[in-house]
Amino acid sequence: MLIYNSLTRKREEFIPREEGKVSMYTCGPTVYHFAHIGNLRTYIMEDVLEKYLTYSGYDVNRVMNITDVGHLSSDGDTGEDKMLKGARREKKTVLEIAKFYTDAFFADCKKLNIKVPNTVQPATGCIAEFIALVEGLLEKGYAYVAGGNVYFDTSKLDEYYKFNDFNEEDLEVGVREGVEGDENKKNKADFVLWFTKSKFDDQELKWDSPWGIGYPGWHIECSGISMKYLGEYLDIHCGGIDNQFPHHTNEIAQSEAYLGHKWCNYWFHVYHLNTNSGKMSKSSGEFLTVSLLESKGYDPLVYRYFCLQSHYRKSLVFSYENLDNAVTAYNKLVARLAQLDPKDGEIDEAAFAEGKKRFTDALDNDLNTSLAVTALYDVLKLRTNGATKLALIADFDRVLSIGLCSAAEKVRKEKKAADAEANKAPEYDMSDPLVVEVLDLIEKRKQAKKEKNFAEADRIRQYLLDKGVTLIDDRSGTTFKIG
Ligand code: AMP
Ligand code: ZN
Repeated sequence: MLIYNSLTRKREEFIPREEGKVSMYTCGPTVYHFAHIGNLRTYIMEDVLEKYLTYSGYDVNRVMNITDVGHLSSDGDTGEDKMLKGARREKKTVLEIAKFYTDAFFADCKKLNIKVPNTVQPATGCIAEFIALVEGLLEKGYAYVAGGNVYFDTSKLDEYYKFNDFNEEDLEVGVREGVEGDENKKNKADFVLWFTKSKFDDQELKWDSPWGIGYPGWHIECSGISMKYLGEYLDIHCGGIDNQFPHHTNEIAQSEAYLGHKWCNYWFHVYHLNTNSGKMSKSSGEFLTVSLLESKGYDPLVYRYFCLQSHYRKSLVFSYENLDNAVTAYNKLVARLAQLDPKDGEIDEAAFAEGKKRFTDALDNDLNTSLAVTALYDVLKLRTNGATKLALIADFDRVLSIGLCSAAEKVRKEKKAADAEANKAPEYDMSDPLVVEVLDLIEKRKQAKKEKNFAEADRIRQYLLDKGVTLIDDRSGTTFKIG
C-alpha cells in the first residue's frame, strides 16, 4: 500500500516494523464540548485507514488518548485550559464534563460506524508516566525549569521542524503566540512539559510532582500514552492537519529526545472540513454536530459517505447542498442494490476478484476513498449474478462501513411488505348480515359477468349502492366499502 507520509512529504510503500503487525496512535478529542463534524471527518478517515490495514491482513493495535487536561485555548502554551473553560461554561466540574463529552464522542462514533480503538486512555489516568518522561528529559539535558514550569529546550535538537509542508503563516502564529505568552522560554519554539501552580492558579485538576503541584502539557500526553501501550516504536501516527504544528512536531521532539532514536515512521494527516465561510469551529457560526444533522433528518452514515467521496488530503467544503447531493447518490445506490437478489446464483470467483481488485487498487493508492466509492458503482456494472455483486459490496463495507447491504435489505423487506399488503385479502366481519349479503351478491355478480349478463351485474352494483355499499373492482377481484 502506498501512503503519503507527512514526515518525508512523499507517497511511500507502507512497511510496518514487525511483519503483519501495525502499531497505530491517534490523537483523541479534547472533551470540553461535542465533537463537530469536522473533527469527525478526521476520525472517519482514520477509521477507514485502520480498517483497510486490517482488511489487508495486518493485525492493528490502535491507541487513542482522551485529552481531559492540559490543552490550552491556543495550541501553544497560552490561554486557559480548554477543559476548565468548558466546565465554567456549564457550571460543572472538569471531570463531569470530561465524562459527558467522552460518552458523547463515542456515541457519535457509533452512529458513524467508527470503531473504538483497542485502547482509549484519558490523560488524567497517566500522570505518573508523564512525570517520568519529563524527569528523563531533564536528566538528559533536553529540558529546563523556569518560572516554575518545565520546558523542552528545542535548541538542543539538530532538527526541530520535522514537517515543513504546512502553511508558513500558521507556523508564524504558533511561534509568535509562544513568545508573547511566556517570558520564561529560552527559545521561541520551546514548549511546556509540565505547568506548576505558579501559572494558571485556577486549574482544577492538579497533581504533585518533583517541580511542585501542577499539571502536564498537552503534547507530553500523547508521547506518554503511546509509549505506555505501544512501546518505543510506532508505525503510524494520525491526526488532523492542524496537529502537525505545534502538537506533532513537539511530540516527535520530546519522544525522540527521550528515547534516543527515531520514534514513528509514518505520519498520516487529514485535511480540514470547512464551511463556505471558512474553517469549522466549535465557537463560531452554526455548531455542526452529528445530532444536529440527525435533527434535520440526515442519516449519519450519509455524512460518512459524503466524507468518503473526497480524498483525505484535500480540504472538504461542507454545505447542506453538498450533503443533499450525497443523500441522493446514497439512496440511488441503495435502490439499485435492493434490486439485486442475494439468492441469485453462486459466488463467481473471477468476477469477485475483478471487482475486489478495483477496490484495493483505489485504497492502495494513498487511501483513495473517492475511487473506492467508484469501485462500488463498478460492481453494479460487472457481468455477474446478484449474489456475487452483493458479496463484493459486503466485502467493501468492512472498510467503508456505510451500511449499504443492510440499507438495501431494509428496502427489499419494505417492498415485500408493501406488496403483501397490496395483495392481502380483506378481512370481513361475518357476524354482520349486511356483510354476508354483500359477499353473496359479489359472488352472484361475478357469475353474471361470466355469463355476460352485464345488466344483472349492474343491477346488483346499483342495489348495493342504494344500501350504501360501494363495490371496488381491481385485478385481484372485487372488494367493498360500507358507508
Ligand atoms: P480536538 O478535539 O480539538 O483536539 O480535535 C480532534 C481532532 O479533530 C484533531 O485530530 C484535529 O486535528 C481534528 N480537527 C479539528 N478541526 C478539524 C476540521 N475542521 N476538520 C477536520 N479535522 C479537524
Ligand atoms: Zn496527540
